[in-house]
Amino acid sequence: MPTLEERLRKTIRIIPDFPKPGIQFKDITPILLDPVLVRDCVEALAEPFQNKQVTHVVGIESRGFLLGPMIAQKLQVPFVIVRKEGKLPYKTVSVSYQLEYGYATIEMHSDVLKAMDRVLIHDDLVALGGTAGAAAQLVQQLGGEVVGFAFIIELVHLKGRQKLHEITSENTIVHSLIQY
Ligand code: AMP
Repeated sequence: MPTLEERLRKTIRIIPDFPKPGIQFKDITPILLDPVLVRDCVEALAEPFQNKQVTHVVGIESRGFLLGPMIAQKLQVPFVIVRKEGKLPYKTVSVSYQLEYGYATIEMHSDVLKAMDRVLIHDDLVALGGTAGAAAQLVQQLGGEVVGFAFIIELVHLKGRQKLHEITSENTIVHSLIQY
């Protein structure tokens, strides 16, 4: 029986030079075609957080919205969305962060978390850690604590893990199912 990591390595499709030259885009959409693999990914993403008193799962637009609600269901906690600037209709908190070229801003509704909430942040992939790090700062702005991060994919050479530890703490769990 192949391991989950072996099954993921076979399933994730790598598209060279998308969306621009030099990027090896990791396409996770084939995972969604396999319901057994989806179930196993959700269980493996949630597993390290089962006994960590997580109160909310935060998913990052847009690929963090695919498995995020299922992780929240598995942990039996609410699911909260983080979106790009200007998309959320109610009062928001926002954080800007640096991209390769320029800046991006992400937002969260300001009434979804309160002080002392214990949050798990989920996205499909961590590269430099800028996006997930900014989501962590949104949680911190509302007084929440980031218990950890769960990614399907980690691009190890870009050292996002270190960046996320700097923004949160050394004890914060950074969990990924497959590393490239
Ligand atoms: P970063 O902020 O550098 O950690 O980038 C993470 C965000 O960009 C995630 O939302 C990913 O979905 C996306 N991303 C970055 N690099 C890739 C890649 N090589 N393949 C697919 N998505 C990527």
